Amino acid sequence: MTIKERNHWLDTVAEPATGPTGALPDKVDVAIVGGGFCGLSAARMLAQRGARVALLEAESLGWGASSRNGGMVLTGMKLPVPTLLKRYGRETVQRMYAASLESIDLVERIVKEEGIDCDFSRCGRLEVACKQSHFDHFSNAAVRIKNEFNHELRIVPKGELKGEIGSPIYFGGLVDESSASVNPARYVNGLAKAAQRHGAGLFDHTRVTNVSSQPNGASGNFRIETNRGSLTAKEVLLASGAYTTNATPSLHKKVIPIGSYIIATEILPDALAAELSPRNRMIYDSKHFLYYFRLTPDNRMLFGGRAAFFPESESTVRESAELLRTGMIEVYPQLRDTKVEYVWGGTLDFAMDVMPHSGKIDGMHFAVGFAGHGVGAATWMGAKLANVICGDPDDNPFSRIPFPAAPLGLRSGHTWALPLAGAYYNLLDWLT
Ligand SMILES: Cc1cc2nc3c(=O)[nH]c(=O)nc-3n(C[C@H](O)[C@H](O)[C@H](O)COP(=O)(O)OP(=O)(O)OC[C@H]3O[C@@H](n4cnc5c(N)ncnc54)[C@H](O)[C@@H]3O)c2cc1C
Repeated sequence: MTIKERNHWLDTVAEPATGPTGALPDKVDVAIVGGGFCGLSAARMLAQRGARVALLEAESLGWGASSRNGGMVLTGMKLPVPTLLKRYGRETVQRMYAASLESIDLVERIVKEEGIDCDFSRCGRLEVACKQSHFDHFSNAAVRIKNEFNHELRIVPKGELKGEIGSPIYFGGLVDESSASVNPARYVNGLAKAAQRHGAGLFDHTRVTNVSSQPNGASGNFRIETNRGSLTAKEVLLASGAYTTNATPSLHKKVIPIGSYIIATEILPDALAAELSPRNRMIYDSKHFLYYFRLTPDNRMLFGGRAAFFPESESTVRESAELLRTGMIEVYPQLRDTKVEYVWGGTLDFAMDVMPHSGKIDGMHFAVGFAGHGVGAATWMGAKLANVICGDPDDNPFSRIPFPAAPLGLRSGHTWALPLAGAYYNLLDWLT
C-alpha cells in the first residue's frame, strides 16, 4: 500500500487565510510567535481589546499541529485524576478541570460569534477499555470525577457497547457528553480570519530567528529578528508549541516533541458509518500507546495514533500508514477492503510532567504542553494570556505549577531517547 501524504482537513479549506506581503511594522504592543490555536486565539482577543498585535508564523497560518489534529475537543487532562490531586491538591485541580470545561464552551462561543463554518458539534466522546482491568477502573474514575468536579460521565457495560461502537474487541466504555468535535483546519483558518477582522496583523512565512530583551528600550522591551526584518514589542507571547526552536532557547529546553499520525479512509456508505460509530462520538482507547478515531463530517473513518514516536517525516508518515491501517482493521474488521486515501503526521507538544504550562520565561509570556488536548486548551490559554497582557489578574491554575525541563535526549533536535520512551509505553500497555 502506498498512500501519498496528504492532510484530509486541508482539502476542506476553501480559502486559506494569508497575511500581508509588505514590510513588518516597526513596533507593536504584542508580538506573538506561532500561528496555531494558541497564538491566533491570543491575537483575536488582544486585537478585540485594542492592542497593536503582530503574529509571526514561520509557515502558513495554522500550519502546525492545529490543522493536523483529530479535531476532538475534550474535557479533562491527560493525567489520571488521583495523580493530579496528589501533585497539585484539590483546589488547583478543581480549577484546572473547570478550565477544561470552559475551554470547550470558549471554542463553541468563538465559532458562533465569528460565524466559523467548521462543523463544531457537541457529539460527546467515548473512551473504550482494552482490558477488563481498564473497564473496572472506569467506574472509580467516573465516581471520582463526579465527586471532585461535579461532572457526570456514563459507564457503558460491554453488553451495551454496540449502541456506541461497531467493534467487538472492547470491554466497555466511558461516555462524556460535554466533549465536542470540529474540523480543526477550518476552525484554525476561521480563527485567523476573525483575528484579522478585529485588526491583528498576521504575518505568515515569517520565521522568528532571535528575540532579545532591551531593558528600558525606547520603543519596546523586546527586539524580534525574523527572516523578513525586525520589529520591537512591549510584550512577547510564545505560542510555538511542539515546533518551538532555538530562537527561544529557554522554552525549547522544556518541550518534548512527539509524533502522532492519522489516516482517513475513502467516504463510507451511510449504513457502514452508522454501524461503526452509531452516535458519531470522538473515540479513543484506554492504552498508553492509544488509538483515537472518529468519523469525519463527510463520513470517512479518521484513525490516529502514535504509530511512530518521532516527529513527522516522509519515512515516519509512510510507516505509520501501514501500522495505522493494521490497527484500524483490528478495531473494525468491516474496513478490511476499504481504501485509505489520506495519511499525515503532526507533532504534539509534551512537557516532562505531561501537563499544560503557561506563565513567563525570560520575561516573555508562553503557553505550551497541550499534548492531545490542545484544540480546547490552546484556544483557552491564548485568550487567557491575552487578558493577562491587557492587565487582568493571572488566575490561570496552569501558570502556578512547576515546569520541569525535558532531559536532553527528549528535547527538540535531540530525540534519540524517543524510541526508548516508545518501548517503555508499549511495555506498560502489555503489563497494565
Ligand atoms: C496528529 C495530531 C492529532 C491531535 N489530535 C488532537 C485532538 O484530537 N484533540 C486535541 O485537543 N488536540 C489534538 N492534538 C494536539 C493539538 O493539535 C495541539 O495541542 C494544538 O494544535 C497546539 O496548538 P498551538 O497553537 O500551541 O501550536 P501549533 O498549532 O503547533 O502552532 C505552533 C506554530 O508555531 C510556529 N513556529 C514555531 N517556531 C516559530 C518561529 N521561530 N517563528 C515563527 N513561527 C514559529 C509553527 O510553524 C507552528 O505553526 C493533536 C496533535 C497532532 C499532531
